[in-house]
Amino acid sequence: MNPVIINCTGMVAPADVEPLLLISTSASDEPYDICYILATNSLFLQAMGSEENAPIREKLVARLNLDCIAIIFYCKKVKQYQLYNITPAAVTLVEKGFDVKRVASIDLERLLNKHSSESFIRGSAQYHFATPSHNHTNAFFRLGDSIKNRDDLDRVTFWLLKCIDESDYIFIDSWSIAAIPLRALQILSKDTVFDALPAHPAKKIIDCRSVVCAATPELKVSVSPLLLVSVVSSGSLVEKFKEIFQGAYATKKLSIVSVYSFVEQEYSCCCVDRNVVNYHFDSCEFCQKGSKAIEIHPSAYYIKDATDSGVKLTRGIAETGYNFFHKYHHHLNDIVSFHKGDISKGNKHYAYYIDYNQISSLAIFAKALSEQLASKLTNNSVVLSLVHDPVVEAEVRSQDAAFYYLNGPESVLGKEVLECVQKSDKVIIYDSVTINGKSFEKLNNFIRESAELSAAITNIIFMAGVYRPTSALAEKALQSSLAYKDARVLREFSYIEKLVLPDFGPLDCPWCLELGAIKGSIKPALKGSGRFYERVSRLSNLHDGVRGTESIFHIDENTEALTLGSDSYLAPEKTAICGVVLAVASALQQMRTAEDESKRLAPGFPYTQALGAINFSLYSEGLIRAALVRNASAIEFGVIEKEKTLEILLPALEEINQASLLSEYIVAVICGKLPPSSALSDAVTVRLQKLTIDNPEIMKLAIGNEG
Ligand SMILES: [Zn+2]
Ligand SMILES: [Zn+2]
Ligand SMILES: [Zn+2]
Repeated sequence: MNPVIINCTGMVAPADVEPLLLISTSASDEPYDICYILATNSLFLQAMGSEENAPIREKLVARLNLDCIAIIFYCKKVKQYQLYNITPAAVTLVEKGFDVKRVASIDLERLLNKHSSESFIRGSAQYHFATPSHNHTNAFFRLGDSIKNRDDLDRVTFWLLKCIDESDYIFIDSWSIAAIPLRALQILSKDTVFDALPAHPAKKIIDCRSVVCAATPELKVSVSPLLLVSVVSSGSLVEKFKEIFQGAYATKKLSIVSVYSFVEQEYSCCCVDRNVVNYHFDSCEFCQKGSKAIEIHPSAYYIKDATDSGVKLTRGIAETGYNFFHKYHHHLNDIVSFHKGDISKGNKHYAYYIDYNQISSLAIFAKALSEQLASKLTNNSVVLSLVHDPVVEAEVRSQDAAFYYLNGPESVLGKEVLECVQKSDKVIIYDSVTINGKSFEKLNNFIRESAELSAAITNIIFMAGVYRPTSALAEKALQSSLAYKDARVLREFSYIEKLVLPDFGPLDCPWCLELGAIKGSIKPALKGSGRFYERVSRLSNLHDGVRGTESIFHIDENTEALTLGSDSYLAPEKTAICGVVLAVASALQQMRTAEDESKRLAPGFPYTQALGAINFSLYSEGLIRAALVRNASAIEFGVIEKEKTLEILLPALEEINQASLLSEYIVAVICGKLPPSSALSDAVTVRLQKLTIDNPEIMKLAIGNEG
């Protein structure tokens, strides 16, 4: 199950659902199969089912194009989750006591992944953590840091509504999650009393006992108290709490719920396997290997004393994409786009996009494809393609091999295809673009589970037109899941082109960030003018995205025809702007996923490894600096390292050959990635004058108060 989950908590108007579709979906290979709408307001439910809202239902059904669109409604009257089905004709109740466990778990895991770089704090070979419960662990998680906005809060709260509704007194494990019971009680229109543990009970048992045994009248008469825990790791907090509680109240029945747990717990809403290991402090394997234990604060669950260091973009990393940019040098403006919705894959949003239809229509690609096929095809091969692609089909047929298009794994069992597979001595599975090889794996599993197919196939190649993994290491993993050693079957994974790229959806897309920031501060006007208005209208076209010279912002037309200078490791001389942006995105992604963790671009505590200021000296060309500023996220600039970076960048802004850097610096400031400078030189101020006249409200953000 891969559901789209749309949070409509507290919402009343059905028309407000559709705008949420885009932010509720994300980039991934796997298509969605069902849609759940989370709702708490009975007016919303009624309105959604009403006669006059039939057009809204029709539109929703048409846009989502899924077999099932359902509402999960929390009904306060009966204290139950209920499942309703939406069709163009009506909204109908299908299940009264709907078990939300599975959907809740998926939704919560997505939330955890969304902010995991900030909320999930991981050790490394150099350090690990000493927790308040006297355990040593390699990772810990702060739920409070995963809740960044109302949507995040509502999602966590929604899945807890039933147990909070059923309780008459609530304990929470930390004040950092107090927003959850507050929001739940607001939704439920209740005023149940709650209290938080002052610290981990193992560290401050007396303080905890005074909370558990508080003289509050509500607690005295409580018959259904609840302990709400954000994350259960070793489980010691819950065990200690139960001990104290049972010692104090022999007859009260305590319910327990945890939002997350790292091991299976009956009371957990979402169990995630993140290889979190706990050791007792006197037998810790991390300590034995020489890793340093860092103490976590017993009540704030924070680490003090954060430091950061800069990570370098090495020549080795910079050069890995060079061949790609060399080969497609003349065509980058056609094949590369950013911030684009792909209609062929469920209209998901791709921050970085290589257009397969464009690249496959090029003679150089066709030549590479032809050579690759010639080296793999036998006299009796069959090519099964997961995509309709006339170029591949023509090439396969010209080399006298059989070709079929597969409409889903099951169609391998179609009579004609199956007979052809049985007669062949080699099967090649072709897919246009793959990020993580999911569709190959799905087909591979299907073949292995079918006796007929696994008997027939003894030689199989999984071939991708464009392979764009999210790390350099991913290929190894995919090789071992598709092309593993098999006594009976020869297996291989290959591709025509490969480039490591981030798989960012709308939440991390640098252009979505830019659009949101400019739109949020521009004065709404019917006929606005100026570069920022033009930019907003460009960026608002999520269908086409941006390409070519639009890949970065330009303060004026002087930088629009810029190309890369000579002698760069990243790409050849005269590479177009979009190529440089993509090359830098690829390099940064390799840094984020470097095998050697001491060289990894990994913002986090306590040793933040940020984008090294040194990169802006090593790569001093304006366009590369602009691309670095564009592609790196706010947190990746670090704290101390960011100051060093600014010491290099700010003085360079007035140089004429750094004009593209100036443009991207302005955008980075508007987006909140970099701070505004109050000391821009007069020369810079003059160049920004036109922008300032056209859109003073935005430029007020972009330049410091003295500027
Ligand atoms: Zn240890
Ligand atoms: Zn060419
Ligand atoms: Zn975007």
